[in-house]
Amino acid sequence: MTTIPHDVMNWIDGRECPATTGQWFDNVSPADNRVLCRVARSGAEDVRAAVAAARIAQPGWAQKTAVARGDLLREIALALRTRRQDIAELVAQETGKSVKLALGEADAAIEMGMFVAGEGRRLYGRTTTASMPHRTVMTVRQPLGVAGLIISFNTPMPNIAWKVFPALLCGNAAVLKPSEDTPLSAWLFARLCQEAGLPAGVLNIVHGYGREAGLPLVESPDVDLVSFTGSCETGRSIQKVAGERLAKVCLELGGKNALVVCDDAALDNAVNWTLQAAFSNAGQRCAAASRIVVFDAVYDRFRDLVVKATRELAVGPADTDFMGPVINARQVAKLEDAVRQAKAAGAVILAGGAKLTDPAHAAGCYMAPTLLENVAPDADISQQELFGPVAVLYRVAGFEEALALVNHSRYGLTAAIHTASLHRAMTFAERVEAGVVVVNGGTHGSEPHMGFGGVKNSGTGWREAGTEALDVYSDWKYINLIHSPGCC
Ligand code: NAD
Repeated sequence: MTTIPHDVMNWIDGRECPATTGQWFDNVSPADNRVLCRVARSGAEDVRAAVAAARIAQPGWAQKTAVARGDLLREIALALRTRRQDIAELVAQETGKSVKLALGEADAAIEMGMFVAGEGRRLYGRTTTASMPHRTVMTVRQPLGVAGLIISFNTPMPNIAWKVFPALLCGNAAVLKPSEDTPLSAWLFARLCQEAGLPAGVLNIVHGYGREAGLPLVESPDVDLVSFTGSCETGRSIQKVAGERLAKVCLELGGKNALVVCDDAALDNAVNWTLQAAFSNAGQRCAAASRIVVFDAVYDRFRDLVVKATRELAVGPADTDFMGPVINARQVAKLEDAVRQAKAAGAVILAGGAKLTDPAHAAGCYMAPTLLENVAPDADISQQELFGPVAVLYRVAGFEEALALVNHSRYGLTAAIHTASLHRAMTFAERVEAGVVVVNGGTHGSEPHMGFGGVKNSGTGWREAGTEALDVYSDWKYINLIHSPGCC
């Protein structure tokens, strides 16, 4: 088992170093509010040092063949695999989720590493025709330079893997700013990269708060790409700041995802997936289902089943529990406030609605899995992403009303429909405004080879994971070869 370090430092040019200001902040377990460690509270100076180290390391890294880079990334993935139990235990501590759930996430990160490593042998370009005789044209992928990677806390190790592996495979060096709530996973990832032989400076990690350590990374003229996963609000400000210097920006943002239950749905299956999509990982998934849209013909039956099942869910950090805490006390307060406001506007609380205050949960950030009904589609709770275990049931007359309600959102990340009708499922898939559609399942659940991302305010059109991720982290170069027939 990995011992939690007393101090989580930055990782710059292959060395651990404290923030130049000498400041720290506490990392607190959401399971019991225990201080786990103190973390470097970095600022612009630290970001400058990390970006400088990345700049120096990048050309040497890019000179290696893509196959060699992929081979090294595979070594990192193998190191992750060897230490998957340690990773899971560390992630369980910093997020409060169960070790079992964290093991699944460790495996997802490993699989991403393995998939991307293989891309080193498939970094395909194209050849094309030309109107001029004796002209051969081909496209090749080029690294961008230094990638600034800023991530959320919700699934810390996959969040690192989804950005770091493709960024490095494409020949970039990187500076990673992990979430201030989950610094330990990044700390361990850096150590494993070093053990696997990643050259110093190719990956640098700067810890700290968003405005103090994230913003300088976005502002830095030496950062060629900013790849961000987080909230719409932060994404909007990043786009503005990076837009000022015309940097490439990839934003993977929030969702207010809907799961539709039609009158011909297998109701037990729909209930099961509703619980998974709305409450697993305490609803802290960009792809979580927070709007459950149910046909009138089955509404009452579905509501009775899903409310009963929600009330029976076990909450806690044990492997046998269904879900753990949300990430911090601020998030609990935000969720409780949203429920209070909805109730004041006429919402009916069917299950949960508040923080759990019994002796087993009182010290932690445990929000009860919460279901509401009688909420207007325009109400704040219908439109704002909460990122917690809170979902609303909506009653609709049929398919057209369901589709209109699903699309009535500024977000467009994922959507699911439960139906026995292939035609209905395909019509939904064609007309729903979302980047990912699932039939008869949850709104979540991606795999490393599947491009993931959303439309509307859920992103800026990029897809992460899959070969599509390579488009984020590389540029295309056209090479024209004009050869003369007289030369052979
Ligand atoms: P957040 O926007 O508060 O923070 C995300 C990261 O940005 C953190 O590392 C934070 O320190 C940093 N940050 C904050 N302000 C910044 C600034 N001004 N400049 C630069 N960096 C800054 O989001 P969060 O609460 O960590 O995560 C929840 C959000 O992430 C939800 O909206 C969720 O849907 C989204 N998310 C999206 C995906 C996806 O793939 N689309 C995946 C996971 C999470």
